[in-house]
Amino acid sequence: MKQYNIQTQAVHAGESPDPTTGASSPNLVMSSTYVTEADAVFSANDLTPDIPYIYTRWANPTTKQLEKKLAVLENGEAALAFATGMAAITNLFLYLLKPGDHLVMSDVAYAGNVEFVHETLPNFGVEVSFVNMSNLDSVAEAIRANTKLVYVESPANPIMRLTDIKAVTKLAHAVGAEVAVDSTFATPIATRPLDLGADYAIHSLTKYIGGHGDALGGVVIGRAEQINGLRQTVSIHMGGTISPFNSWLIMRGAVTLPLRMRAHEIGALNVAQFLEEHPKVTRVMYPGLPSHPQHELAQHQMANFSGMLTFQVEDGPAMAQQLSKQLKVFHYAVSLGHHRSLIFYLSTENMQRSTFRLSPAGLARYRQFAGDGIFRTSIGIEDPHDLCDDLAQALG
Ligand SMILES: *Cc1c(COP(=O)(O)O)cnc(C)c1O
Repeated sequence: MKQYNIQTQAVHAGESPDPTTGASSPNLVMSSTYVTEADAVFSANDLTPDIPYIYTRWANPTTKQLEKKLAVLENGEAALAFATGMAAITNLFLYLLKPGDHLVMSDVAYAGNVEFVHETLPNFGVEVSFVNMSNLDSVAEAIRANTKLVYVESPANPIMRLTDIKAVTKLAHAVGAEVAVDSTFATPIATRPLDLGADYAIHSLTKYIGGHGDALGGVVIGRAEQINGLRQTVSIHMGGTISPFNSWLIMRGAVTLPLRMRAHEIGALNVAQFLEEHPKVTRVMYPGLPSHPQHELAQHQMANFSGMLTFQVEDGPAMAQQLSKQLKVFHYAVSLGHHRSLIFYLSTENMQRSTFRLSPAGLARYRQFAGDGIFRTSIGIEDPHDLCDDLAQALG
């Protein structure tokens, strides 16, 4: 598929006519088990990539097609899909990290992930340093001889802070540490972490790649040897297997990812510019705006600025009440990357108490991006004028 443009890859990668029926569209294979030879192997340890299908927790034909498509889109050798983005992340941690190992983790990242690393990973004897990934000196200082993994999220949920993936990878590889990048906000249309040297690209498929808000999923993409190892040692035993139905839905969504990302970007830029002019809005954070503190990095690391933005107002909690009641096109809801626009208020106080637990200096850096709180806004593929009108009438 390498010779084709990403728009063609999104349509065709992983998909081919069914050899027995000629069906042009992918089959949905819901079977949990498969009729095998009498001497079929049964242990995960005997698994090889060419083994026939045995049981869907090991591998499934529909999910295999999705994995092939996602590996091509990220320019990776192999992919392993999971039931959710969190399953993808936690399985990769448990695969790579052992007692005594050190993890350098972005101090701001997806809330569920940060909480897992704070609360559960230490139980496994893993040492963790939380750092501001946008500051290369802090990253260099945090990396040690026993650092096994550097974990990046760019742009970081929810504050839209970017990380220079190529530069961080250079620092990590110098001590033999690997780099994983949660690229959910960017998608392969904006940034391909593996092309920048990272070892793993991770996505919550629930977001842009599925794109329609109707299926949970996650994926880890990387070198075939590592992905096979992940399948064999952790994923089969942890059992966070994606439903083939969700694989089928997400594969269908992934086909239009390049087209949708173009619409998300146009919509987000329109809404960001509208909000920057609005008298009640005090700050807008969108990588595509020159006012974003890392706009220059965004320009060379993101081929598409994606559909995520945040904005701030004087009295966030009161405005959250107002918007949740007044918005007609936007849904006031968590999650992101759907065809439908979504908005949700995250107060800095609540995020600090419940999730991030930043040092005073870290909290000050967080406030540079988020002030007292932000409206995390996921711009869908509706007409941008209708979105601006909806925000105008609701902001008042
Ligand atoms: C939503 C999200 C996740 C978690 O994905 P789920 O599919 O909800 O488990 C991880 N990382 C980022 C950046 C996310 O936005």
